[in-house]
Order: sequence, then structure tokens, then C-alpha cells
Amino acid sequence: MQLQMRIVATVLAGVVADCCGVSAWEGAASARQPWGPNGLGVSVLEESKPKLPAGVLATLVQMREAIIARDKEAYMRLVVPGDGPMGDPIFRTEQSRWCDDWVKTPVGAISIEGTAANPPVGAGATARDDGLERVYADLKWIWRYPASEQQRTRPLGTQSLVRPKSVQFVGLFVRPRGGDDAAWRYGGEVWVTVEKPPAPQIGFAGGRVKFEPKFGADNEDAQGDEAVLAKVASIAGAALPEVRREVDAFFGVKLTCVQEIKFYRSMKHLQHSIWLSYADPLGGWNEPGESIKLMATGARPQRIKQLLAHEYAHVVTFTLGPKATDAPWWMLEGVAELASAPYRPEAKPRRDRQVGAWARQDNLAEWEHLAAFPLKPEHAKYMTHVYVQGEHMMAWLTTRFGEAARTKFVRALCNGASLDEASRAVFDSPWLALDVAWRQDVMLLGRDGAMPMDDVDEP
Ligand SMILES: [Zn+2]
Repeated sequence: MQLQMRIVATVLAGVVADCCGVSAWEGAASARQPWGPNGLGVSVLEESKPKLPAGVLATLVQMREAIIARDKEAYMRLVVPGDGPMGDPIFRTEQSRWCDDWVKTPVGAISIEGTAANPPVGAGATARDDGLERVYADLKWIWRYPASEQQRTRPLGTQSLVRPKSVQFVGLFVRPRGGDDAAWRYGGEVWVTVEKPPAPQIGFAGGRVKFEPKFGADNEDAQGDEAVLAKVASIAGAALPEVRREVDAFFGVKLTCVQEIKFYRSMKHLQHSIWLSYADPLGGWNEPGESIKLMATGARPQRIKQLLAHEYAHVVTFTLGPKATDAPWWMLEGVAELASAPYRPEAKPRRDRQVGAWARQDNLAEWEHLAAFPLKPEHAKYMTHVYVQGEHMMAWLTTRFGEAARTKFVRALCNGASLDEASRAVFDSPWLALDVAWRQDVMLLGRDGAMPMDDVDEP
């Protein structure tokens, strides 16, 4: 392995053109040609300049080809395994869901530019002797989607495409020392890791907080960023034992996993890490078996604890039953909001005012319209309702039936019960009757100076 100590060459992953790849780029050529000098996503490499190792470039090319071909199996063969010396089970799980998105919603065009990058400062990768070779690559992803459902049905290259999106970060490629060119695997972003070892005396199962490192002297802009990120990570690491204890207690469980957290510098990087098609603003993300992904929005401890508590509540909910991801979305978000409520004491009066105002304006959503993510286009106006109306209902049920019953209800939904089945089993009442009672109660909420709530975060 040879590490290039300066950024010296850029090669587009589309440099090896195949029939699919070239036609995909022809769509781009009709627009602003953001892809490369010839509009086909093929850049001319200056032969005199050093470049990424050929095997890494070939891996990049194959990654792009697999995305264009919507071949998840081929792509996942290029990703680090779930176990062994190169293993990263959490990243692999994240990549697997990331692939499902572009299989379901194919991109119209994509390029992955790979540039040799310096070894990271602070990630500690260079000091390890673990039998692996590593290459660091400054990766620039650029992708575009068909402009409409109708365009989606047209062949690649003939579609009208929306404005390109792009994101740039330093990625890791790894192989066993002495492996051949085909052995390089993509390991995702390079992170600085803050380990929080288990502390049995305080009942803490352990944690791992990751953030993006500074990369050598070339990336001086990132220095300030990194200081903030390091502070954010350190606050999150320090808060994790308390947040886990509080949220575990909220659900009456005790999880024993080492919880991984990833802090992203930018919203578009966080969105890219979830799905290429993900476009909604968000503060955090979690799915079963994945890290808690958070936006590094600042170093306010209260805000970090609030985001952590919300996302960790999702982690706990996903352990309550095998159908948790199919449970009503408003319940998943509502209960996560309620679990994080101790870290945002100002939210309850605002929530009550908002729900009361919606009730009097006849603007409460039907629960079935908040049940599935993403919302249908005609219900997109209810995005805030998912969180605020959902939290209010979960709080109302808690006041009426108690915390243990609330968790039983959540557990029933996470095991596949319908709303009505869970309601009858746990609250001894049809769901409809509870809904009617709740709607009557909330009519009276916050009558004094009802104010719209316009700054709800949607983690
Ligand atoms: Zn959430």
C-alpha cells in the first residue's frame, strides 16, 4: 500500500464506461455538465500525477456500476464484512438499508470522485498493526434523480433529471496486508472514536462516539470544525450514561449493548448516509442495528442530551418487538419525544398550546394519516403532527393509565398488534373510544394565548 501525502489526482469512478454507465451520464450532459470535462462523467487523468491505488479505483468504479445497475449484492461484496479483522457490523447494516433505497428508488445519474487523501490526524489508524492495509480517499459523491415519476419509467440517459446533489468526505478502503487489487473493501467514513468503556458501578453498558477527523495540513478549514466536533463528541460521551439510564427507566428495560453514535458535520452528509433519496431536514436518525446518527449542530449539552435521548428511545423501542419498524410512526416518534421530554422542559406548554389550537381549528390529524413513514403527499402537511400530536397522545395515555401500561401498549404495537387490538388488550377500551375522549380533552388545552409551534425539530 502506498499512501499519497498530498492530494494530487482526481479520477471519476465512471472512468470505465459501460453501456449503462455512459447512458446514465448522457442524461447529465444535457444539463449543466457538472460531471466532468466531457459531460460524460469521465475525467482525463494526468498520467504524470500519482493517484489512488488501481485496486481502490477499481472498487470505486464497481461501487458506482452496482448502484446504476441496482445490484445490491454486487455493491455489498465491495463493503467491509460484518466480522473478522476488517469487520464493521454496524456500517454494513447501514449500507444494506442504503442499498435498499436505490434499488427501490433508482438514481438517474451518479459519480463518485476519488482523490488520494492524507492519513487522518487523531483517528489513530496509522499506529495500528492489525495485519490490514488502509487507503484514505477524499470522496466526492454527485447524484441526480429523475424529475418525476413519469421520468422514472424512461430509460437511463433519456430522463429529465433534477438538480445534482453532492457530498464530500474522507472514506476508508481496507484490505488484508498483501492482498490483491480485488481485495479492497469500502469501510465508509473515517472517524475519530471516543470510547466510553462500560462502568458496571453506575450500570452503564458502554458507548462509542464517532466524529469526523481533521485530515492533515491540506484541510485547514476543518480545524475549527474539528474542535467543535470534538467538544460535541465529548459532551455526548459524558451524557450517554445518564441518558441511557433515564430512557431505560422510562421504558422499564435495561439494554446491554455498546451504543455507537456518529456525529455528522453537515445535514447533507447525514442525509446521504441514510439514503441517497433522503431529502427532509432532520436532527438525528436510528434504525435497528445501526448507530445513532446525529447532526453536530452545536455544543449545547441540553440540546445534545435531548437529541440523544430521542434517538436512544428509538433504539430501545426497536428491542421491544420484531415488528417495531411497522408500528405506527406517530407512536414511535411520540414516545421518543416523551422519553426526551426531561431534557426540553419548555416543550410541554408549547405542545399543549399547539395541540389545543389544532383541535379548535379542526386541524388534528387522523391517526391513520400519521401511521406510515414517509407520509403520503396529501398528508405531508402533518409532518409536525407526527411528533407533536403523537407525543401528546402518548403523554395523555400515560397520565390516564400509567407508565407501565404505556410501555405495554408500545410493546404490543411493536409485536404487530393493531392500534385497536393493543388498546383493547392494554387499556380495556376500543381505540376509537380513547380517541374520542382524547379529542374532547385537548379542545380545552392552552386556551390562553394559543401560539403556533414553528420550530419543532424532527429527529
Ligand atoms: Zn425520531
